[in-house]
Amino acid sequence: MYPNPRPDLNDLPPYRAGQKLVAAPGQTVYKLSSNENPYAPLPAVLEAINKAAQEINRYPDPMATELVQAIADDLGVQAENVAVGDGSVAVLGHLFQAMCAPGDSVIYPWRSFEAYPIWSQISVVNSVPVSLFPDGSVDLSEVHRKIDQYTRIILVCTPNNPTGTSVKASDLHALMREVPDSVLVVVDEAYAEFVTSPDAVNGMDFFNMYGNIAVLRTFSKAQGLAGLRVGYVIAQPNVIDFVRRVSIPFGVSNIAQAAAIASLQPEAKAELKSRVAAIVAERDRVEAAVRATGWDLPSMQANFIWIQTANSGELKAACEAEGVAVRQFPEGVRITIGEPAANDRMIKVLSAFLQ
Ligand code: PMP
Repeated sequence: MYPNPRPDLNDLPPYRAGQKLVAAPGQTVYKLSSNENPYAPLPAVLEAINKAAQEINRYPDPMATELVQAIADDLGVQAENVAVGDGSVAVLGHLFQAMCAPGDSVIYPWRSFEAYPIWSQISVVNSVPVSLFPDGSVDLSEVHRKIDQYTRIILVCTPNNPTGTSVKASDLHALMREVPDSVLVVVDEAYAEFVTSPDAVNGMDFFNMYGNIAVLRTFSKAQGLAGLRVGYVIAQPNVIDFVRRVSIPFGVSNIAQAAAIASLQPEAKAELKSRVAAIVAERDRVEAAVRATGWDLPSMQANFIWIQTANSGELKAACEAEGVAVRQFPEGVRITIGEPAANDRMIKVLSAFLQ
């Protein structure tokens, strides 16, 4: 007989990471299952990583002082408005711990980022999922109707993972006018840099207008540092103070801190921006081509497209048969925008699937 872990976690859903495929002889395979950046790291970032690697016998700066200041400068806020963690998924968990006690509740549109129900259950917080509109966009009026005295956090994922649509700024303003000041609205903007729709939310505009907004962002996507794990939250100092208190000490390695700082230097920033522009151009090309083959897609605003279909298992199998790993959900398939050759292959698979 061994000690039993918490029985209330028996049905905790696992975090399902995107899969890789094994290449058959002569085949090129592509991983379009984790919304990663297809570009190799920038030379300046690799240099910073190599330099930092010389000091891995020492603990990192526990407060990530230089990185926090660099993020604050980049976004025009104070260091006291910034907390970092090992990926924004960890920072999200810290937000739950900082804000919610057992029995409190968290509202989020669903389907969305799979970490939301996981962190809710681990934190013994009630999940209040709100269905998306049929086109995969977020229904904030229904979110508003679900607010009660137990609500502590509202999660708004924009662009929404996995459906790719962004929330309209006017809709979020309408919600913010109704949300009690005591409720923290977390704008999860992991894909912020890929947004091109002029009426979409920009979390920082909201942070600058409302005291109860937290903006969650990451270096994993646009900056291409998914393997190093750096995410952050921008919020009022009282929230940041508690996020820091509950954070795992030394959570962000010195290598990760150095790489993120290097990514914020003007030259690196410009280069990363042009890479994002190229990914966005590919997204728009793929979106138009896929639509032309007969699929009905709303405007995609992140670095992936969402194919809503009841036959998602078959579509996933068809992609894999062509050497492309994608992410399947019961309601559809999410396909990351990758290198142009990978995207071309996806357009062919999606076209053939409808025949
Ligand atoms: N939020 C959303 C909406 C995401 O899609 C992801 C990554 N899949 C994250 C947060 C977490 O990213 P990371 O932990 O790599 O910063």
